[in-house]
Amino acid sequence: MVPLFPAITDQIPDGGVEELPPFLLGFPKSSVPRLLNDDRIALTAPFPKAFDLEQNLHASFKRELLFGIGERWSRTITLDGEPYELRAQVSERESDAFWIILAASLPKALDDMFGTGGAYIGPATGSRSFNLASFGEGLPILYIWDERQPPSITSQRDLGAHEFGHTVLRDAYDPLTSCCHKGTSDPVGTVSASAPTFAATPPPTTVLDLMLYYNLPKNVSVDANTLATDDDARALAWMAKVVFG
Ligand SMILES: [Zn+2]
Repeated sequence: MVPLFPAITDQIPDGGVEELPPFLLGFPKSSVPRLLNDDRIALTAPFPKAFDLEQNLHASFKRELLFGIGERWSRTITLDGEPYELRAQVSERESDAFWIILAASLPKALDDMFGTGGAYIGPATGSRSFNLASFGEGLPILYIWDERQPPSITSQRDLGAHEFGHTVLRDAYDPLTSCCHKGTSDPVGTVSASAPTFAATPPPTTVLDLMLYYNLPKNVSVDANTLATDDDARALAWMAKVVFG
C-alpha cells in the first residue's frame, strides 16, 4: 500500500517502540504506512494489565460475541424485488479488519489496581460496551465485561451484533444516526421517551430491530429477539463492496 503521507513515516525513527510518537505507541514502524492510509484514524492507548480478562472468560466472551455477529446479521434480504439469503461469517485476521478490544470494566480494573474494595466511581461508569467507530472509521469496538452483571450467552450474542452494527450505521448513514440508535436514544445512550415500549408481561416475541433502544421494564430483556433489519443488512453487504451480478 502507498502511505497517504509518506513524509511523515520517514520522520519516525527506527528502533524501539518507545521512540515513536505517543499516539503510535505499541505499533511497529512497519505498520505505520497502513495506519496512515485512507481515512482511517490511528489511535492506540496503553491499557494496564488490570483490564485483561481471565483467559477462559476472554475466549468464551469472544466466541459468543463473534457468533452473535454472524447470527444476527444473517437474514433474508431483498434486492431488485428478489429475496437473497445473506450469510454473515466472522473470522479473525490481523489487518484490514474491524478493531475489537475485549476488556474488564473500569471499576473492576480500578479495584485490582488500587484496592478500592468495590467503592466504584459510578453505577455504570466504564462498564458498558461501546463502539468508537460510531464516530469514525478505524476506531475500535470496546466490548466490556461487567462482572457485577455477567450477561447471559444470549445477551453476549446480542451485544456482539449490536456494537458491530454501530459501524454499519455510521458507514451507511452518519455518526449521529449510529450513536443515537436511529433516534431512540441520545448520543450517550440514554433511552428516549419516544423509543418503542414493551410491557412487563408477556415479553415481546416478535423480531425486533437489533440497532434500536427500547423502553423496557426492569428484568425484561429483548436480547433473544433481535435481528439486523433488511436495510441494515443490505448496508453491510454494500460496505463489503459485494457486487451482485
Ligand atoms: Zn448501541
